[in-house]
Amino acid sequence: MRSVHRVYGFGPSATNALDGVDLTVPPGRFVSLIGPSGCGKSTLLRLVAGLERPDRGEVRVHGVTPAQACAAKMIGLVPQSPALLPWLSVLRNVTLPQKINRGAAGRRERIGGFEKRQVPDMRDLLVKAGLGEAMHKLPAQLSGGMQQRAAIVRAFGLRPDVLVMDEPFSALDEFTRESLQDQLLDLWDELKTTVLFVTHSVSEAVRLSDTVVVMAPRPGRIVETIDIGLPRPRGERLFKERRFHEYEDLIRDRLRHAWHGAAA
Ligand code: ADP
Repeated sequence: MRSVHRVYGFGPSATNALDGVDLTVPPGRFVSLIGPSGCGKSTLLRLVAGLERPDRGEVRVHGVTPAQACAAKMIGLVPQSPALLPWLSVLRNVTLPQKINRGAAGRRERIGGFEKRQVPDMRDLLVKAGLGEAMHKLPAQLSGGMQQRAAIVRAFGLRPDVLVMDEPFSALDEFTRESLQDQLLDLWDELKTTVLFVTHSVSEAVRLSDTVVVMAPRPGRIVETIDIGLPRPRGERLFKERRFHEYEDLIRDRLRHAWHGAAA
């Protein structure tokens, strides 16, 4: 993203949702966005996912516009709620995108510069995500955590080059959340997708990310970009390590500044 501006509304009531945002994410990185409500995190995701366009500045995904990247199914989206089709089994839900996007591979090849995409075996991914037993059930027969896991598997199913996740675990209890973080990290490690992840949880951001982007509101902007130099894999033991908590403290400190700036 280069010098990206996004303004909602006009005149005195206009909201500067993003004000001159510059952000470069190298392929394969896990990047989290964190910041007070209204700092433009969702707007940033929507711009990358091609759901909106910037008023000024430029957004590129692997060198093409988000609209072109979407047409080539290079971008996967995991929303806050799982949005599964209630009348289809879990397996049919997660395989549906592969069935209805057959033209995408050709479009991606024409963009060029990519290795051919190996479409993953969805049964295999479901088993890895702990949904082996649930595969033939309907979404309503699953817990919220299992439904969200299915939504993540569905998004990985097209092997997107970029996966955009908007607080995907916010509605879940802490233990379910930690286990989903594990599974997300496993899938990410296997599929090498670039991830843009919005969260309100500092520990979640530190645990998952290569880079944490701290944002502030009014106007929405990036205040700091912090690389998380913790080794992977990042299992449960990490929570007991001093360095993990030092990163948490650093990000909390930056967030406090962002809040105070917002309140001023
Ligand atoms: P965050 O995800 O960090 O909470 P958003 O990107 O949702 O922030 O919103 C940034 C700012 O833009 C907020 O002040 C919000 O009220 C405003 N905003 C977002 N979407 C719209 C919209 N469609 N119309 C008007 N204002 C909007």
